[in-house]
Amino acid sequence: MRCIRKNCKNYAEIHPLYGTIPCEACRQEKDGSIPSRRKFQFANIGKLHRVQAQRDAHLADLLQPFEGNRPNVDFFKNYPDKVDDYQVRGELEKI
Ligand SMILES: [Zn+2]
Repeated sequence: MRCIRKNCKNYAEIHPLYGTIPCEACRQEKDGSIPSRRKFQFANIGKLHRVQAQRDAHLADLLQPFEGNRPNVDFFKNYPDKVDDYQVRGELEKI
């Protein structure tokens, strides 16, 4: 007895309750292991994005307005409104 699925060359299985059922490979396909794996992947990507966003926010927090006696370009990229507070516009244009 062959598996009842189209294009399937495996043997069907006999279930004590349901009788002839598709082979294991077909049942797994039908059980939706692909959609659930996809769902898992999306969850992971979302989580990664959150972690990355948190990391970015954190990096900006750690930035200091000055590196030694030079204005820190990355700091003022993150806080452009601070450029005039620190009166470094001319300095930044030189960098
Ligand atoms: Zn099959």
